[in-house]
Amino acid sequence: MKSQDLFDQARTLIPGGVSSPVRAIKPYPFYTAYAQGAHLSTVDGSTLIDCCMAYGPLLLGHAHPEIKKAISDQLEKGWLYGTPISNEPEFARLITSDHPGMDMVRFVSSGSEATMAAIRLARGFTCKSDIIKIEGGFHGAHDGVLVKAGSGATTMGVPDSAGVPPAVVAHTRQLPYNDAEALESLLARDHDIAALIIEPVLGNIGPVLPEERYLKDIREITKAYGVLLIFDEVITGYRLGIGGAQVMFGVKPDITTFGKIIGGGLPIGAFCGRREIMSLVAPQGPVYQAGTFSGNPLSLAAGLATIHWIHNHPEIYRDLDEKTRAIEESVGNGTGSFVRIGSMFKYFFREKVPKNYTEVKECDTAAFGRFWQNTLSRGIFLPPSQFETNFLSVAHSNKDLESIAGGYAACL
Ligand SMILES: *Cc1c(COP(=O)(O)O)cnc(C)c1O
Repeated sequence: MKSQDLFDQARTLIPGGVSSPVRAIKPYPFYTAYAQGAHLSTVDGSTLIDCCMAYGPLLLGHAHPEIKKAISDQLEKGWLYGTPISNEPEFARLITSDHPGMDMVRFVSSGSEATMAAIRLARGFTCKSDIIKIEGGFHGAHDGVLVKAGSGATTMGVPDSAGVPPAVVAHTRQLPYNDAEALESLLARDHDIAALIIEPVLGNIGPVLPEERYLKDIREITKAYGVLLIFDEVITGYRLGIGGAQVMFGVKPDITTFGKIIGGGLPIGAFCGRREIMSLVAPQGPVYQAGTFSGNPLSLAAGLATIHWIHNHPEIYRDLDEKTRAIEESVGNGTGSFVRIGSMFKYFFREKVPKNYTEVKECDTAAFGRFWQNTLSRGIFLPPSQFETNFLSVAHSNKDLESIAGGYAACL
């Protein structure tokens, strides 16, 4: 069956026809039949170069043979036990040793679950109620963080979801990115703040990059006021390098959340922190957190194989950085701005590089829509929103890169 027919059916059975809002491409999304390396093959018979990579998890590309083997080896042994499994300590040791200052980790099933638990933990540790999030920062789809969120929430123009009690978001303060002074003045006024949760690089409206010193400044300010700093590295963890944004920028948060890449393409999340903070998590401490699928054998097998692969090929980060630089050099800025960091990149339809959510929203989304359609018809699948990051994987060949750069340049 073709995409259009599938979508006609799905639309009557699934809200918007899709399982996650950003997939609702107009007039109908293409359906993927299979994927390999850097390519998606649709049920309509076309093959696309994938620059979306499932919105970040697929650093090694689709169906990587070593990850596939790890999953199938685990399948032979069963895929859900409800007991601890033997590779948990090793996985925990790798994640904590790759992120100095993160002493313990709890595995969960999604990035949303990780941020939800991290926020509860910060409140439990500080005995304070409020949190600060950054405008345009996306931390998953739970109540307390669905305020001026990026990702689908921005594309859809629904920064505040229906069904979120005002009393819940009353505990969520908003601050602009790249504005340490605004943080300082809020903390000087408001003494009930448990934590600042931030994507160190805004990935869900970006990438929007931190200005010189911004991350260091917010570290110093939060520390001075006894407020925990939560780095949401669900995208940037193992994406910007081993150690993620915190090692790249030399800033140690109190709590880190992970997801996406650490599951090797299977559902996962994790939150880590200093020992004195993580010791409060149940059953060791009073902050409750639990999950049927937490630390499930398949996700851990795929994730651990991914991290091992990365450790054996640390040069990929330099290579990926050079690849996005080559795209940037060949595309140039034109009337917009090309922004990149490591294997994350994006062309903003705005003359000057945006430095926060307000500026990102000034982009010409109609121009982006036309550009997106044109790139798709040239066989390049970009994330279908001006507000989502483009990702490269290690599976993108030089030929793919030439097609991407050529497609970008022609369509711009
Ligand atoms: C994707 C994402 C999440 C949510 O992760 P899910 O696995 O989709 O629940 C949270 N934070 C950031 C920064 C993300 O990019």
